[in-house]
Amino acid sequence: MPFTPYHFGPSAFIGLVFRKWLDIPVLVLANVIVDVEALVIHLFRLGYPSHRYCHTLLIGAVLGLLWGASAYPLRHLFKWLMQILRIPYQTGFWKMLISGVLGVWLHVLIDSIYHWDIMAFWPSHARLPHRLLNPQQVEVVCLAFFAAAIIVYMIMLILSYKSKTDRTGEKKHN
Ligand SMILES: [Zn+2]
Repeated sequence: MPFTPYHFGPSAFIGLVFRKWLDIPVLVLANVIVDVEALVIHLFRLGYPSHRYCHTLLIGAVLGLLWGASAYPLRHLFKWLMQILRIPYQTGFWKMLISGVLGVWLHVLIDSIYHWDIMAFWPSHARLPHRLLNPQQVEVVCLAFFAAAIIVYMIMLILSYKSKTDRTGEKKHN
């Protein structure tokens, strides 16, 4: 994907739907971590194709584990952020590790469809079906996931508001 933000749609959607098992901030921010590689290659004109080792399932998993582990000390910051967004948030070390790896893998999968230079199965040169969708279709799918994530988020807010008012209503009744 040319821009990291396109990745936010699919990962926000998956994070929200599976929030019981996944750490949303770790999953979403993994996209930024992976693309630092493309940015560095581009900025320092290293002459490689922009997607190298971090954009593989193998090194990507290591990167995801490192990101998950280094995000652990940030869990209170994430909790505060999620409280502002009114998203229930409970995390743990393992949850953060798993979310880090899945976040990077999801990024690699989406990028593999979009970019010709990704070797997801490195050190094997086998490639995922590149151009399964054309670039515009990938962008549309990412944006559709973004819209779906907003809908899931809205439903979540409405349900939590409803259950809160129901509870206060019950208390008054008692
Ligand atoms: Zn990327």
